[in-house]
Amino acid sequence: MRVSELPTARPPGAGREDIDFAAAQRAVADLLVALGRDPGSEHLADTPRRVADAYAEMLTPREFNLTTFPNDEGYDELVLARDIPMQSLCMHHMLPFHGVAHVGYLPGERILGLSKLARVVELFARDFQVQERLTKQVADWLQEYLAPVGVGVVIEAEHMCMSLRGVRATGSRTVTSALKGALREDGRSRQEFFALTGVAG
Ligand SMILES: [Zn+2]
Repeated sequence: MRVSELPTARPPGAGREDIDFAAAQRAVADLLVALGRDPGSEHLADTPRRVADAYAEMLTPREFNLTTFPNDEGYDELVLARDIPMQSLCMHHMLPFHGVAHVGYLPGERILGLSKLARVVELFARDFQVQERLTKQVADWLQEYLAPVGVGVVIEAEHMCMSLRGVRATGSRTVTSALKGALREDGRSRQEFFALTGVAG
């Protein structure tokens, strides 16, 4: 299939249609009881619905069409979208982690509408995730569907499970990267990528 004819992008995980809202609301009410709270109190009365809605939203990426264009001018320098806002849910604690993604690629025969790089991040971020896995999934997906000469993805994120609990490492950011193709193999391309992302490579 040609990249330009790709159908609407769908994430590999569950979508909103797989979420059982009634069961999720019951489970939140049960959790409140288990935590010694009264889900019948005025402030908590509507909380199970709000929590179920919030999780459904955080687990459902917006669908998008992968619009690509022929690289008519033969542009062969790095294309980089920096500081793409990123929010996801830690798979281990069901708490948010958030930060920014830097996504770059060295074009092959096709180029991508720039806003689509942010949508690809969202496609995988709206899921229960591990940051390392999220980073790799974005890189793999771009490699597969855009077939560029190289792909680089860096994610810098603060994890609420680290900031709010235990070590209370507020402000501490976890940095992960995934490189493919020329950005992995070629030292100069790799250095340029990391220099432009502002992350020490
Ligand atoms: Zn966690």
